Amino acid sequence: MDSQFVRTGPLMELASYPQWLQEIVAACSESRRTVVEHEIFHQMHLGMLPPAAMKRFLTSFWPVIEQFPQYMALNLLKVQYQLGAGHAMARKYLIRNIRVEQNHVEYWIDWSQAHGLSRDDLLFGWRSSNADALSHWCWHTCERDPLPVAMAATNYAIEGTTGEWAALVCNSSLYERGFPENIRKQAMKWLRVHAHYDDTHPWEALEIVATLIGHRPQRRDVAIIESAIVKSYEYMRTAFDDCLAAAATSHMPHKKLGRLEAAPICVSS
Ligand code: FE
Repeated sequence: MDSQFVRTGPLMELASYPQWLQEIVAACSESRRTVVEHEIFHQMHLGMLPPAAMKRFLTSFWPVIEQFPQYMALNLLKVQYQLGAGHAMARKYLIRNIRVEQNHVEYWIDWSQAHGLSRDDLLFGWRSSNADALSHWCWHTCERDPLPVAMAATNYAIEGTTGEWAALVCNSSLYERGFPENIRKQAMKWLRVHAHYDDTHPWEALEIVATLIGHRPQRRDVAIIESAIVKSYEYMRTAFDDCLAAAATSHMPHKKLGRLEAAPICVSS
């Protein structure tokens, strides 16, 4: 078999990808499940997530939202057109999708404001170490790790799970109806643009990883790609665990957020 990978099957079918990549996806599936089926999204979906946990979630995930185009820019710096089809695909994908992310930061701010958070709360509010670890990890892997590793950790693992949990939250109107009608559309915009079970982006990222590595990867390539995907899932899970724990504790070192915990809420059960 030629070691070069050229996809012939459908983009969104795992069987279209090299055996080693299928095995990685299978090995990471349990860890992925702990993210997309996290309790926080079940409670959000039902409109029953306590306000303290919701606010903590919005502030915790904010750095990843804000920095996501920068992660892609760091990966774009690694692209060398002359290195073959995988690099050409990565170049196109990254340039195109950095543009797509243009408005998403503003949508996240709108969503947060609908829950009583200000811009400053997002920018300067307190986050748990686990929440910080997630964005630090994304920056680190995109800055230091090889292109297929970093794209697997972010464009495949983070974007893929985000599309799934956003779809879960949106697949009933329970959460949405918690917002007053006049702000509902604006509040739900970020979730709506990400809520696609059929989003092709994570699959395109997987195709780029497969094309960059080919059919005959070195053992260490397989190991670091698998571990990068699992790390993204684990950091997300632990950050989300902390958000739920926020509902049960009053540990708030930041004075301003302490005030916000008592602020009126927009979403009710
Ligand atoms: Fe986005």
